[in-house]
Amino acid sequence: MFDLKELYQEVILDHNRRPRNFGPLPNASHQAEGHNPLCGDQLKVYLETDGKTVNDIHFEGIGCAISKASASLMTESVRGKSLAEVDSLYRRFHDLLTGDPSTTGQADEGLGKLAVFSGVREFPIRVKCATLAWHTLQAALESRSDPISTE
Ligand code: ZN
Repeated sequence: MFDLKELYQEVILDHNRRPRNFGPLPNASHQAEGHNPLCGDQLKVYLETDGKTVNDIHFEGIGCAISKASASLMTESVRGKSLAEVDSLYRRFHDLLTGDPSTTGQADEGLGKLAVFSGVREFPIRVKCATLAWHTLQAALESRSDPISTE
């Protein structure tokens, strides 16, 4: 039988092994650092935006498979999107991880590959690993210079 959980795990492992858009972005207009002290994840997100669209986005850092795969999938999901779309995607992703499982059926829609993290909500301690990249992206967009922490 087709096992969705195994497929999800495979996608996460693949992005952990071969993170996409990994490394600094020389022409970045915004950047921020994020830390998740609970797990030891440290990420840096770079983006190039004209204030309307995310034209390019990269990340680098060290951390667990969930945090790296989430950052990698995030960069693929938000590149070329308007800032409003990015915000909406972030809200739906956050709902997927923290929301009521009975209502998150709708949240999965439109998330594309980000839906692979739906299993993370069963492990509350891992939710911060999965959302770290997104919090860091928000900080970059708000041009906060102090490193953000999930604590
Ligand atoms: Zn982690």
